[in-house]
Amino acid sequence: MNGGYLTIMNRIIYVDNAATTPLSKSVLDAMMPFFTERYGNASSLYSVGREAKRHLELARESAAQCLGAQPSEFFFTSGGSESDNWAILGTAHSMAAQGKKHIITSRFEHHAVLHTCEELEKEGFSVTYLDVHEDGILRPKELEDAIRPDTALVTVMYANNEIGTIQPIAEIGKICKEHGVIFHTDAVQAAGALPIDVKEQNIDLLSLSAHKFHGPKGVGGLYVRRGLNLSNLIYGGAQERGRRAGTENVAGAVGLAAALKETRDGMEERNARLTQMRDRLIDGLLNIERSRLNGDRNRRLPGNVNLCFEDVEGESLLLMLDAKGICASSGSACTAGSVDPSHVLLALGLTREMARGSLRITLSEQNTQEDVDEILAVLPPIVERLRTLSPPIIVCP
Ligand SMILES: *Cc1c(COP(=O)(O)O)cnc(C)c1O
Repeated sequence: MNGGYLTIMNRIIYVDNAATTPLSKSVLDAMMPFFTERYGNASSLYSVGREAKRHLELARESAAQCLGAQPSEFFFTSGGSESDNWAILGTAHSMAAQGKKHIITSRFEHHAVLHTCEELEKEGFSVTYLDVHEDGILRPKELEDAIRPDTALVTVMYANNEIGTIQPIAEIGKICKEHGVIFHTDAVQAAGALPIDVKEQNIDLLSLSAHKFHGPKGVGGLYVRRGLNLSNLIYGGAQERGRRAGTENVAGAVGLAAALKETRDGMEERNARLTQMRDRLIDGLLNIERSRLNGDRNRRLPGNVNLCFEDVEGESLLLMLDAKGICASSGSACTAGSVDPSHVLLALGLTREMARGSLRITLSEQNTQEDVDEILAVLPPIVERLRTLSPPIIVCP
């Protein structure tokens, strides 16, 4: 697959794969017919529609299989944010009828989860936000202790989008099952990078998004365990067996399935290569004085590097890297442009000053050892320069 991606400019070193990934060429090829001759509405009865429907269902089967789920348990959505919203709001609203209005989550979830939980608090639900420890990993015992008789849902991400730390999902799933609590995991960063088996891991609801694993943007999926009561989020037509309205995005669904399958094949080999490049970057960059690694050294996504440099402003660092053709991030793409330090880094216990000097580098299989060499050569002098140039950082309280 290497070299098969569509690149805009050859000179660019793209290391922001947690924000989005380039579309795989073979995925684009699989999708193409559904933009052209196979344009039928999958809900129409005539042949062109039936043909679209057939491919939609093939995509569903393939995607479900990659998760260890049944096709009837997999629903296509518009992306990770919708899947998270649907899982959380749908569970909360259906469980409220049974008097269960308590939700447990963690402080370092994606905003698609945190802001949804905050909305539910306004509706009268109560939410427990678990602390993550300095290693960026949640303690299952603390989660278990937080479960109450009125707990409806636990929502904990599989892998974090900023620091890449991997949560003990199977252990959490087991605890939730024992206590009769529904378990949702935002697996948007994990899908395509880590093995998923919803039955083995006792997952009731799982969100994923195609553009995070070399699929197209604007299409995602939600696994919903059979028999689970979930209110609808989007009302309208009877698509997705009456549970998610809207004309089916057949090209997107085909792309999601193709990308998920492609990333699952050869995962182990690819992860070994990514881990080696990741560790080379971490070792090299930690040689820079007054730097620190955020999140556990090993229990993190194979391609995730997240560091802080004292007395450096993250945004300036990104601009200087950009001038060298290197696309990286200071944390989450969603908070880029805002001056607030990352809520994830603050949840780890970092000071606001330290959190402002963060840099996230996320690799994909498209990256090469030369990319790593280039970053290792370019970054240290940039950090040094910024430290001598920049006035002391003023952080608003
Ligand atoms: C990207 C991301 C989302 C949002 O997915 P979209 O498809 O962009 O809406 C949600 N959760 C995590 C962990 C993510 O990385």
